[in-house]
Amino acid sequence: MEKMLQVEIVTPDRLVLDEKADYVSATGIGGEFGVLPNHVPYLTALKIGSLYYKANGKNHYAFISGGFAEVSDNKVTILAESAELVEQIDLERAKKAKERAEKRLASKEDYDQSRAEIALQRAIIRISLKSSNGL
Ligand code: ATP
Repeated sequence: MEKMLQVEIVTPDRLVLDEKADYVSATGIGGEFGVLPNHVPYLTALKIGSLYYKANGKNHYAFISGGFAEVSDNKVTILAESAELVEQIDLERAKKAKERAEKRLASKEDYDQSRAEIALQRAIIRISLKSSNGL
């Protein structure tokens, strides 16, 4: 049997994913990277972005809020502050988070602009993942 990857996504409060995959792609701080079986050991910090993995000829998508990825012995481990599989994303919640962040950014009173910018990025990526995958 051909070698496969084991892909695991872990957040502080739950195990989001633990599946076999033929290919995994995620958003590192240096750009997107892809992992096939027998990849060399690799460690990178992650940006707010998406992850996808191929298994049984299908692509599966997840939101990753930043964190770290480690590749070792055909295992891809993602440690993220928060993460959801695309089917777990609540679109309405993400839209509300986007509106809140946009209001904060527009208001001159709010001094924590970078926090609002990061919240906005999370919301935009959740919305685009959910929309582009038609779920
Ligand atoms: P919100 O303001 O709606 O809480 P956020 O970007 O601040 O959004 P996070 O801090 O990234 O939220 O995540 C907090 C928890 O809520 C995590 O468990 C995360 O998986 C979950 N979560 C956040 N937004 C969504 C969403 N749109 N759909 C599903 N789960 C979500």
